[in-house]
Amino acid sequence: APILTLRDAARHYPSGDTLVRALDGVSFNIYPGELVGILGPSGSGKSTLLLIAGLLEPPSAGEVHIRGKCVSHPGMDLDQMRHFRRNNIGFVFQKANLIPFLTAVENVALALHIDDVPARAARSYAAHLLASLDLAHRVDSIPSRLSGGEQQRVAVARALATDPGLILADEPTAALDSVRGRQVIGLFRQIADERKAGVLVVTHDPRTLDLFDRTIEMNDGRIVG
Ligand code: ADP
Ligand code: ADP
Repeated sequence: APILTLRDAARHYPSGDTLVRALDGVSFNIYPGELVGILGPSGSGKSTLLLIAGLLEPPSAGEVHIRGKCVSHPGMDLDQMRHFRRNNIGFVFQKANLIPFLTAVENVALALHIDDVPARAARSYAAHLLASLDLAHRVDSIPSRLSGGEQQRVAVARALATDPGLILADEPTAALDSVRGRQVIGLFRQIADERKAGVLVVTHDPRTLDLFDRTIEMNDGRIVG
């Protein structure tokens, strides 16, 4: 069964007396264990698609299903959506956005404190995650002491902390050189394979496309390939 389904999902923004169709009827499934890329020119709707898939914005029309449950239902309130998001979805952005005065392990553990995991358990699991991303020697470093690639791996560890079934990433390698960029996509490949998470990545980086199972190509708010 798919982890994520979009069915005729649309998102319209008013612009003067017309509507911008940022997303114009998009349907696809993401299955557990799949690493899927989203490609397309600037303005084609890629970020809007991630916001809708990530339950950060409701679709103007159509449906979003996560683990077979319709989560775009008008009856679903914001608290329910937030709860659903927290338990099922991990986000990685272009910039790592770590909290500068917290160490790597504290940044990752914070994602678990929010979920009322006891502090010691949160810290120990965070350290374990960082070690699994080859950052054992960096757990007590603050972000400014880490390289760009290391910061982005901490951000990936943070996204994994709640063991989400779906990971959404918006140009996570844009700020990295090609070696570190490939490392981060390689990490997503591994997460898809080992944790059976579905991973959806907006990317412009042609050098890592061989690591993906497939790509979705967007233009003018629609899937064109
Ligand atoms: P991409 O991520 O592919 O660059 P976006 O999803 O950001 O594309 O944008 C798709 C289209 O929707 C663009 O024309 C953009 O200007 C428009 N758009 C996106 N967000 C908004 C918004 N909040 N208000 C008005 N228009 C928006
Ligand atoms: P919480 O689970 O505490 O309610 P939020 O709802 O604030 O968290 O956000 C959930 C995740 O989505 C966080 O990783 C946050 O950084 C990200 N996020 C929230 N709002 C936006 C937005 N408008 N654009 C991009 N990412 C966002």
